Amino acid sequence: MKSSNLGYPRIGVNREWKKALEAYWAGKLEEEAFLSQMEALRLEHIRKQKEKGIELIPVGDFTYYDHVLDMAVMFGLVPERFGYEGGKVSLAQYFAMARGSDSAVACEMTKWFNTNYHYIVPEWNEDRLALTENRPLAHYLEAREKCGVKGKLVMVGPYTFAKLCKGIDEAQLARVWDKLLPLYEQVLRELEAAGVEWVQLDEPILVTSLDQEEMNAVAAIYRRLHQAAPQLSIMLQTYFDSVTHYEALLQLPVQGIGLDFVHGERVHLQALATAGFPADKVLGVGIVDGRSVWRASLREKRQVLEQVLTVVPPERIWLQPACSLLHVPVTTSKEEKLPPELKAALAFADEKLDEVVWLTTSFNEGAETVADVFAENEARLRGLGKLRDRLPSAGSVPAAGTAQPPRSPFAIRQAAQREELDLPLLPTTTIGSFPQTREVRQARQRWRKGEWTDSQFEQFIQAEIKQWIEWQEELGLDVLVHGEFERTDMVEYFGEKLAGFAFTRNGWVQSYGSRCVKPPIIYGDVSFVEPMTVKETEYAQSLTAKPVKGMLTGPVTILHWSFVRDDLPQQEVAAQLARALRQEVAALEERGIRIIQVDEPALFEGLPLKREEWQAYFNWAVQAFRLTTSVVADATQIHTHMCYCEFHHHIDVISQLDADVISLETSRSHGELIHAFTEESYDKGIGLGVYDIHSPRVPAVEEMADIIRKGLSVIQPELFWVNPDCGLKTRGTEETLAALKHMVQAAEQARAEP
Ligand code: GLN
Ligand code: ZN
Repeated sequence: MKSSNLGYPRIGVNREWKKALEAYWAGKLEEEAFLSQMEALRLEHIRKQKEKGIELIPVGDFTYYDHVLDMAVMFGLVPERFGYEGGKVSLAQYFAMARGSDSAVACEMTKWFNTNYHYIVPEWNEDRLALTENRPLAHYLEAREKCGVKGKLVMVGPYTFAKLCKGIDEAQLARVWDKLLPLYEQVLRELEAAGVEWVQLDEPILVTSLDQEEMNAVAAIYRRLHQAAPQLSIMLQTYFDSVTHYEALLQLPVQGIGLDFVHGERVHLQALATAGFPADKVLGVGIVDGRSVWRASLREKRQVLEQVLTVVPPERIWLQPACSLLHVPVTTSKEEKLPPELKAALAFADEKLDEVVWLTTSFNEGAETVADVFAENEARLRGLGKLRDRLPSAGSVPAAGTAQPPRSPFAIRQAAQREELDLPLLPTTTIGSFPQTREVRQARQRWRKGEWTDSQFEQFIQAEIKQWIEWQEELGLDVLVHGEFERTDMVEYFGEKLAGFAFTRNGWVQSYGSRCVKPPIIYGDVSFVEPMTVKETEYAQSLTAKPVKGMLTGPVTILHWSFVRDDLPQQEVAAQLARALRQEVAALEERGIRIIQVDEPALFEGLPLKREEWQAYFNWAVQAFRLTTSVVADATQIHTHMCYCEFHHHIDVISQLDADVISLETSRSHGELIHAFTEESYDKGIGLGVYDIHSPRVPAVEEMADIIRKGLSVIQPELFWVNPDCGLKTRGTEETLAALKHMVQAAEQARAEP
């Protein structure tokens, strides 16, 4: 067996990558110095993998921003607005595509399959297609020369690439292949001529629900690529789930097929057992989870591999992580502050590569040679079990779906709330956060560092809340918020206060470009410890007669934005979170809060890759939301908020959440939404964001009034709310006040219209 890897994190042990990029953008680092720092990181990553004993080292996975953008640029897909006129794309043009420039808006960015990584969406334009460089070849030569490594080149495969492009007319796909494939063919031919042995073509799209016709297209593509460079070996790499057309894949003229034996373990073992595996191919066995942060049970992984070995001989197996390690932090070695049992049970990228090597060794050299490592592995996992046992049990509240009668029908609640809240028609509100100014951030830091006492910090927060309650009253908003000044992040804030969470010091992963996130780790049962938001909300409410809306992050969003334990199904963790948050909702209501918003911006992020699994996902996600919120009386109003989502495809699901009011980010997709509401009606309260909070621009009253008018053409006025698109934490104070003033005026104007 051979050990292999699919991709390594770019960011560096201390986020050197991010720092170099940002210094370069800020003009603090010359291009030459930037390039040499990047090269140093790139080579260090290759050497590190070599030292660990990885035999098939991915090369070409490194990037200055995003690997999909790299492909687009290599193929000349630089949109006209960036002023590119052929030849090699400059660094300035490359970054302009990613981040925008003074004269051109950036390319769109969207989520990479079901991960939290975002790629730059290529803009298809067949007239522009041209090979601007052979990027993989350059990387191959560099690794060979400078590290003595004959790398396995990594590229996004043509089928996935085309599917991710924007502007391709599905009916014209045949034409797309005629234009795109010659470029792939040329790259591959040049690699073949340079003596490259293996190319990994990533085709994660093969785990989504493809039909037979699409699979035929995939087959035709790979036949062409093989003919173009017959001496080159192609590893057709899939990940994130099981493939939908296993038997058809076996027929392809590729030399290797890589499958995910973590997320697709059961399906792939079954497929191997029934359809076998061809004698002329290598099987890439994705055995170590590339998405979770946990150590694998080496013993259990060996059992899986033993089943694979009944079908495929060891010399045709590569052991590898199930996907690129891009999605996990670099190393656990710096986590001195975690409970030792937890640290011992974590595996980030470097530790995962060790696991791959140990498993490979256990087969190649005999299990006894790594018996001590296996024993230690068991001890680590036992330690985690003991740590979990010390947490309070989450089982004290009745299980999901049992002790929660649904709320009364909406009409009854609506009447009760009308009486309780006495709001005008087209009520105005905001999404929760107000500007997190430098003073706010500094105050939080001072307090975190211990320079400020709890009470100093509390006083500061109270002063902010007081100021903003006054401003909101002056503006004439109808439903006020406290402003979320005490929160750094909508998940971290709750994670720190609930049982079952841990926080790393350095567990960063790339989210998009230079932006990295440090998701909390849910390591055991989640439970409520004490009220988390009551103090600030109650204080805000004490200052005004208008209703103050309580503000929580929902269970599904907390789940998706954390690293989750892998010994329980996700839906059970969601139910634990829901039970804990339900207690917070109840506590707010008990303290007189009459409106409570439970944000679920990530509800649709967790959508499974296969359509046939969507319903099951929605069932438990909706259930978790309802478990969180159904504790309140009819007269208490439940709100929820989602940032941009494909709302128009999922109106039914949103309706099932049974929130009294939902606010949505809509200014960038207004047309689609309005259209959706003409087709299908929505029968509960809804606020279509009337202005985009991503820009400092203050929209005119008339602009917002116009959006309100359009909304009212499809939604009943009794259900319609007026609010910005999303939270205002990234905005400045002046512009926020000015924009909200216009928003209130727009609402007043709309109310006055017949
Ligand atoms: N209540 C949050 C805020 O206003 C919602 C943020 C979000 O939707 N991502 O900041
Ligand atoms: Zn939002």
